[in-house]
Amino acid sequence: MAFLSDRDPLPYIKRDALKDSPFILVSDHAGRIVPEKLGDMGVSRDDWERHISHDIGIKEVGHYLHKLCGSVLIEQVYSRLVIDCNRSPGHPTSIASVSDNTNIPANQSVSEDERRARERAILHPYHDVIEREIDQRKGSDNILISLHSFTSEMNGFKRPWHIGLLHDHDPLTAQIMIDMLKEDKTLCVGDNEPYILNSVNDYTVPYHAARRQMPALEIEIRQDLIAHETGQKEWAERLANLLPRVWDERKRRGNL
Ligand SMILES: [Zn+2]
Repeated sequence: MAFLSDRDPLPYIKRDALKDSPFILVSDHAGRIVPEKLGDMGVSRDDWERHISHDIGIKEVGHYLHKLCGSVLIEQVYSRLVIDCNRSPGHPTSIASVSDNTNIPANQSVSEDERRARERAILHPYHDVIEREIDQRKGSDNILISLHSFTSEMNGFKRPWHIGLLHDHDPLTAQIMIDMLKEDKTLCVGDNEPYILNSVNDYTVPYHAARRQMPALEIEIRQDLIAHETGQKEWAERLANLLPRVWDERKRRGNL
């Protein structure tokens, strides 16, 4: 039996570019759909509302940003509890048995066959469509923009940042954006906060951008700021204004 049924949606939605744009927007944790076969995964209704199932608010920010920038947007529709699309295949937290201290019953002792079935059905098709988008642009300058959101509190620690820029192979683009964000003195901007981007615990930026030495930004916005429509629009507008400036400055400063 196939992992996804005829009633399950495709694992990604691609919103085509509305004009020529160097930005390739991707949203690994936009969705929280579960394949019919997995039911509710044994996770309570309240927990499905939490950040463990998806990146709260980022799907909507992505949609507004797509409209404002006219850039292509590729988003994952299934919950990261089914499979985390920002983890490499086989990574220990790719199919999390525990997420932020919450047990995920459907992910206890997942067999090798089941893991591969989830990868084939969800992880690979999503990354294949990103790969095709990048490949068809060969020869022109583009930048991968990976959109995420983070919870305002973790293990009792209140996170002060409004936005964080995560980087590894391309610190220059991140630094340019951090400096521009800091022009607004009211913003607390994280530099590789609240996470450090790396090739072990991240997948999308290392796999698609680092190995091509392609410019990339991984943007994390604090979830309470984009939990509602007003904040989602406000942050999409902020990014839509900044990204072209960042890109112009990045090109001015030269190649990676
Ligand atoms: Zn995320």
